[in-house]
Amino acid sequence: MTRRPRKAIIIGAGIAGPVAAILLKRAGIDAAIYEGWSYSTGIGGGLQIAPNGMHVLAEIGLASELIRSGEVADAFDFYSQNGARLGSIHRNMKARFGQPAVNMRRATLNEALVDKAWSSCVEVHFEKRLARIEDRADRPIVATFTDGSTAEGDFLIGADGVHSVVRQHVNPDGPRPFDTGLVGIGGFVPRSLLENAGIGPLIEATFGQSGFFGYGFCSPDPAQGAMWWSTQPSHGIDAATFRAMGDQRLKQHLRDFHQGWRDPIPRIIDAAENIVVTDTLDVATLPTWSRGRTLLIGDAAHATSPHAGQGASLALEDAMRLSLLMREDEELQTTFERFEAERRPRAERIVAIARRNGSTKREFSPTGAWIRDRMLTLLLPLTSRGMDFMYAYNPCEPTSRPRTSTRRDPLAA
Ligand SMILES: Cc1cc2nc3c(=O)[nH]c(=O)nc-3n(C[C@H](O)[C@H](O)[C@H](O)COP(=O)(O)OP(=O)(O)OC[C@H]3O[C@@H](n4cnc5c(N)ncnc54)[C@H](O)[C@@H]3O)c2cc1C
Repeated sequence: MTRRPRKAIIIGAGIAGPVAAILLKRAGIDAAIYEGWSYSTGIGGGLQIAPNGMHVLAEIGLASELIRSGEVADAFDFYSQNGARLGSIHRNMKARFGQPAVNMRRATLNEALVDKAWSSCVEVHFEKRLARIEDRADRPIVATFTDGSTAEGDFLIGADGVHSVVRQHVNPDGPRPFDTGLVGIGGFVPRSLLENAGIGPLIEATFGQSGFFGYGFCSPDPAQGAMWWSTQPSHGIDAATFRAMGDQRLKQHLRDFHQGWRDPIPRIIDAAENIVVTDTLDVATLPTWSRGRTLLIGDAAHATSPHAGQGASLALEDAMRLSLLMREDEELQTTFERFEAERRPRAERIVAIARRNGSTKREFSPTGAWIRDRMLTLLLPLTSRGMDFMYAYNPCEPTSRPRTSTRRDPLAA
């Protein structure tokens, strides 16, 4: 195993990939990114980066830009579908955790990260879909892409998301993504729609007897500055089938599903265009995050269903922590083991919270929904305190890192 690796192959130009490349470059390690899709702009819906993720964006010099092109969310307010207020959480994030929670378009984040990678002299190769990895002793590690081309490096980082091919190399018989039975449907509407409804700089989220609807400002753009999303039971229909319905039929489906829900939900649905549909996937705990000279980070290592709003922030944290460990110039295998030992307990705790939150968005009986709403009213303040550990963590600060591996079932290199 190379003692001082100089060149990283990074698979995936989503969130973890570009940030890892930028930070490795700073640590004196060359990184080239290989992304399966062609370069494109304006893709995807909205998301929120929590204070723990914003620390990393600040570290790479993007926090102010993304705050300007996004929208700080001062709270998360919950309602029932008939308009009863259930509670408010995540107030004063900036004061409490040193960075705010920021709503933004996924495309804005992704484009800023790729631009930053380019300006950091990171090579970013598009239309390079990983097919397989060859890791033979005394030779560089080789990634082969579906077009037959190859790339060589001293190690390989799998930042290729929930459908990771690198994960299959690391855990050939390991778990595969599974559908959680919920589908996410969302997009953007004009800011004026929320402004006219008197919505402040926060996220409002509504629980129904079945499903969930959220919205909030996400950019200064008057035409598309408000994001919205509906999470609902998929009843076995996959995202591709929903997508094939087209905007008009999807809007009718949403109108029927959210009929009678509190304002401004019906108006948001009426104004929706270019609707984005996503499966809500999860992956069971992996036996190991690394094998030989390959390491998984982000969703490839610990896919997080979206219900804790933390998947992107965890991906940012991973990139930061890995780069700090790489600076210590230990054997690659030691670095990978230390990375996993440090990151796994936190990631798995948050994945478990996301699973639990997802269960509140399923189908309830009228009595079940009433009980859930009463429970939420009582428990939200406690739940909020129980989630503070997610935001209070600053991954850019050096910490004492555990040295013991937490691997479940180490695979031979
Ligand atoms: C509907 C929805 C809403 C969400 N909302 C939030 C939120 O508000 N806040 C939050 O923190 N998180 C949210 N998440 C989760 C968050 O999006 C993910 O956790 C995050 O994107 C993970 O980042 P990543 O870099 O690991 O993977 P990704 O962002 O998925 O990037 C992986 C990249 O790898 C590429 N790739 C895949 N396979 C290959 C291959 N074989 N070869 C080359 N390239 C490949 C992909 O094209 C992609 O560009 C949400 C997720 C969903 C589905």
